[in-house]
Amino acid sequence: MENKSAATNGADALETARAYLRRFFGYREFRPAQKPVVESLIDGRDTLAIMPTGAGKSVCFQIPALLSSGVAIIFSPLISLMKDQVDSLSGQGIPAAFINSSLSPGEVARTLADAEAGQIRLLYVAPERIDDPWFAEAVVRMDVALVAVDEAHCLSQWGHDFRPSYRAIAPFIASLPKRPTVGAFTATATPEVRDDIVRLLGLRAPVIHVSGFDRPNLFFDVRRGEDKNEFLLRYVNAHPDESGIIYAATRKQTDAVYSLLKKHGVSVGRYHAGLSDEERRKMQEDFLYDRLAVMVATNAFGMGIDKSNVRYVVHYNMPKNVEAYYQEAGRAGRDGEPGRCVLLYAPGDVQTQRFLIDSSIEDEARRAYENERLQRMVDYCHTPGCLRRFILEYFGEYAPERCENCGSCTAETETVDLTLDAQKVFSCVYRMRQHFGISLVAQVLSGSENQRVKQFGFEKLSTFGLFRGRPQKAVNLLIQRLVATGYLTVESEHSTLRLLPPSFSVLKGEEKVLLRLPKEPEPSSRSGKAAPLEMSGALFDALRQERRRLAEKENVPAFIVFSDATLRDMCRLQPETLDEMAEVKGVGEQKLRRYGKAFLTIIRENRQTTNAKNAERRT
Ligand code: ADP
Repeated sequence: MENKSAATNGADALETARAYLRRFFGYREFRPAQKPVVESLIDGRDTLAIMPTGAGKSVCFQIPALLSSGVAIIFSPLISLMKDQVDSLSGQGIPAAFINSSLSPGEVARTLADAEAGQIRLLYVAPERIDDPWFAEAVVRMDVALVAVDEAHCLSQWGHDFRPSYRAIAPFIASLPKRPTVGAFTATATPEVRDDIVRLLGLRAPVIHVSGFDRPNLFFDVRRGEDKNEFLLRYVNAHPDESGIIYAATRKQTDAVYSLLKKHGVSVGRYHAGLSDEERRKMQEDFLYDRLAVMVATNAFGMGIDKSNVRYVVHYNMPKNVEAYYQEAGRAGRDGEPGRCVLLYAPGDVQTQRFLIDSSIEDEARRAYENERLQRMVDYCHTPGCLRRFILEYFGEYAPERCENCGSCTAETETVDLTLDAQKVFSCVYRMRQHFGISLVAQVLSGSENQRVKQFGFEKLSTFGLFRGRPQKAVNLLIQRLVATGYLTVESEHSTLRLLPPSFSVLKGEEKVLLRLPKEPEPSSRSGKAAPLEMSGALFDALRQERRRLAEKENVPAFIVFSDATLRDMCRLQPETLDEMAEVKGVGEQKLRRYGKAFLTIIRENRQTTNAKNAERRT
């Protein structure tokens, strides 16, 4: 069933679909992953589409909705997501509306009446609404041709966002007078989730499309042993005009990172479940509208955040599994422009996640399953190989040996013989009876005479002060690398360092420790490698300012006016007429009418300034 093309007799319909894509969305072609999904839906087949974030799922149900005779009902989990999509569709001249708890009963009644009268093509609904008798009554009178279930993994308890209300969708579909075509969409690829969706939605002989999970525009990077705060400040300050998300594991850490950035003058917001609804709503909105550049958040933030111009996602802590990581990191670069995904790894993150798993899951089998997935996440953080390849293989996809667009592939490395240093570390861990954590071992090795060292009499050990004169951080990093490469382990319960079998071979002189390490100086020079990401240039800045001005005037987020990708394309094509402007990616009919002239003016002014400057230089 997988990847089976829909019947070909829909060639005309596909042509119309393409024309709509162009007219309403300003895109010339469906992406290769979108086409078969659109085809099977317009062919009237139930469809499950598994596509990574940013692949363009929305268009896959929006276009079939426009082609169908009646109204399409889109089930969507979040109010903010519905609002963004409806704003965006309305901006493109498509009659769309939503019904959720943010509307008054009067507004709900009006929207339902409009839908019944056939004046709405796409009706976004929260699944909780199914229980509302008004809705149930009105919907029977509508001509529902398509039901699309967005974020369909919410149906499954195996998924990370289980929502019981999603279970009401199948009975709802069954209650309709005429069974509509059903499309389900998710970015979660595990077989358990996929099977649950098919079963729990009652999909009939569905066509299942699993599109490639690669996101070539994303640069993946893992930083181990980095001073996280120092890295963050350096990175955020080096990219002041870019939108970024920083994920932390706990509320406390989110607050701490937020305070740190705020103290350093960064335009930053925060988001976690401990804040009031009002505070969360405001922070989210300010981020969407580009009033805040950076959002520090727990994983409570993001599902359904449709902001397309997020340029980086930094994980301050390692998340609980690769699915969660890829979904969160995937919020960068949804517009197809370069995005950077950096994971700041520290061994303590593993303990935090293990603790969260052990304390929140009672079922033993389930706990083992989650711990196994956690281990794969830890493996990602330690792999010396290509990071993209690791992720793609995790999702069962083939990937070439190297992608040349991740931290592992692009790092300048050299092979370093660390045998002697490693022997000193192992011997110290052994002499400290494998009872203590990384920092105390590092303190002993660097000869620190602090109270804790003395309390245990460690200043008398033969390994005391073996690394005297080296910065403590460097010693920490060395130990972390030995953990990362499997010579040592950090015991989960008390974070104590323990020797693993390979370390004994090294101690006995039977084996060498040869590691491929980035050439020094490490952190600052590597962060400078973001060059292909720079979205600078006077024209781009001027276009962005104009976008912001228009967005504020219309009270919509900036990316709803135009995405970064569209502004980039404008810089590339530099249109002089409205016809030329229509060629820009993402400029559909309605937006051309609405914003075309304003942006042409900016481009013209920019050209004149550049010409004047050039003339001045010549004279
Ligand atoms: P998803 O829901 O899969 O994460 P979206 O539907 O938000 O992705 O789409 C991601 C971005 O891709 C949006 O900016 C969207 O406008 C853009 N996009 C969608 N389809 C196309 C296309 N055919 N050509 C170019 N850009 C597209």
